[in-house]
Amino acid sequence: MKTDIQIAQEATLQPIKEVAATIGIEEEDLELYGKYKAKISDELIARSHNNPDGKLILVTAINPTPAGEGKTTVTVGLGQAFAKLGKKAMIALREPSLGPCFGIKGGAAGGGYSQVVPMEDLNLHFTGDFHAITSANNLLAALLDNHIQQGNTLGIDPRQVVWKRCLDMNDRVLRNVVVGLGNKMDGMVREDHFVITVASEIMAILCLAEDMKDLKRRLGRIIVAYTFDGKPVTAEDLQAVGSMAALLKDALKPNLIQTLEHTPALVHGGPFANIAHGCNSVRATTTALKLADYVITEAGFGADLGAEKFFDIKCRKAGLHPDAVVLVATIRALKYNGGVLKDELSNENLEALKKGIVNLEKHIENLQKFGVPVVVTLNAFVSDTEAETAYVEQFCKEHDCEFALAKVWEKGGEGGIALANKILETLEKKESHFHTLYSDDLGLKEKIETVAKEIYGADGVTYSPAAERELKRITDLGMANFPVCMAKTQYSLSDDAKKLGRPTGFKINVREVYVSAGAGFVVAVNGSIMTLPGLPKKPAAYGIDVNDDGVITGLF
Ligand code: ADP
Ligand code: MG
Repeated sequence: MKTDIQIAQEATLQPIKEVAATIGIEEEDLELYGKYKAKISDELIARSHNNPDGKLILVTAINPTPAGEGKTTVTVGLGQAFAKLGKKAMIALREPSLGPCFGIKGGAAGGGYSQVVPMEDLNLHFTGDFHAITSANNLLAALLDNHIQQGNTLGIDPRQVVWKRCLDMNDRVLRNVVVGLGNKMDGMVREDHFVITVASEIMAILCLAEDMKDLKRRLGRIIVAYTFDGKPVTAEDLQAVGSMAALLKDALKPNLIQTLEHTPALVHGGPFANIAHGCNSVRATTTALKLADYVITEAGFGADLGAEKFFDIKCRKAGLHPDAVVLVATIRALKYNGGVLKDELSNENLEALKKGIVNLEKHIENLQKFGVPVVVTLNAFVSDTEAETAYVEQFCKEHDCEFALAKVWEKGGEGGIALANKILETLEKKESHFHTLYSDDLGLKEKIETVAKEIYGADGVTYSPAAERELKRITDLGMANFPVCMAKTQYSLSDDAKKLGRPTGFKINVREVYVSAGAGFVVAVNGSIMTLPGLPKKPAAYGIDVNDDGVITGLF
């Protein structure tokens, strides 16, 4: 069997100009990054503003195994399938982070015959957006420490600096560091922290900003520290907005690439769904809706994280109205949720499947709470048996849920036609009554508790003293109307990665809280999840290489 990277490298790409033309984008609206990548112009975005919106289809999943369950693969395959059916379709995805590329999970270009290409470029440096975000984040950090060094006229309390430095790498030793060691000229000594770039507030801001004006407004509102008398200090106070925005000028423009079957894909922004809000940029999604009749987009990890935040943060903020949700399940993940060990997932095990299917059941119930029609799809693996597939199909029937098998990994768009038809049929006969889970005016604790109880199935929520204090401070600052961005493990509906299936009798433990005033949400960090991941014992990096001719191997 060919690897993802072999399939991607054997593909014949069309010049991106030609791909753009299929969706009505002219060459003058493209800023080319070589032959196969382009950014789209602000003028095109402005010009298409009054076009009618296409249908918005979200792809999400059940709780995954560490390898991922194929949401990106299904998203790409579905875009290809719509194109095969003669529909004007576009895909909107996140940009991959280097953390998982070199860690456990690998890249984020999809898999098999449903990938976006050029996959090496996309998975590595792409068009430099993450570099720009990292730089803007760290410019703000540098300006802040320099302000303290140069006399600290704002009265920043170095013990209450909340802005963290960032880098796009899994590197646990940078979670907690001391900066400013040395002599007087080397800055003020203080404890500092790094987060991964995909958890930076700048990433969230870039993904939520409508345009440059909105981007600057949001950058200005970022709270970087508090003064000795407890007042917030913002990026605007530090005169950091103009220079950060200059660094982000091009990063704000969505990137256009293609699938293996030349379906256009906007790949832009990439917050993680376990520690950030988990979906691609608002600009990419809204632009795709103006250019295509069907837009297929992905929200990260399981529906408890990605979909909840897609609805409650992205759709709320951008006024988006999703028309259908595709819930991806795999036999492997269902068995994993039924207690089977990672290396035994390929063996038929109906008992474990029956035990683990409660996870699918809970995600169906959860998605129905948002009023959007749900289609369950089984992402087919060659190891799946007929009995197993039949069991899942029957389960969906009994739960009055649309079902289709997806063979997009093996067959590309052709393997997604059954699913695409099922979605078209659903769009036709079921109207979306989308609504968010909670209203803006609910208190922050009530919002956290609503998500914990309704979505995770928790009995309640406990708060660390620090979290309690911070929630009070944010409320006193008048920001209790923000939605909450829940950070927790992707493996469980609870905040404990080991509680699989459909856990009951647990509480969510809010360890840390902070406000992202520019993004416009409050982050609640639950359980032991880290905003800077570490590498595993055998990182994917060990298998990656490049030969003398510049051909990369081992990326997946
Ligand atoms: P997600 O977006 O849910 O994290 P991806 O689509 O990135 O998952 O897929 C994760 C990995 O699993 C990729 O390496 C992909 O090639 C592989 N994969 C996805 N679907 C299948 C399948 N049906 N059979 C075999 N491998 C698959
Ligand atoms: Mg993905």
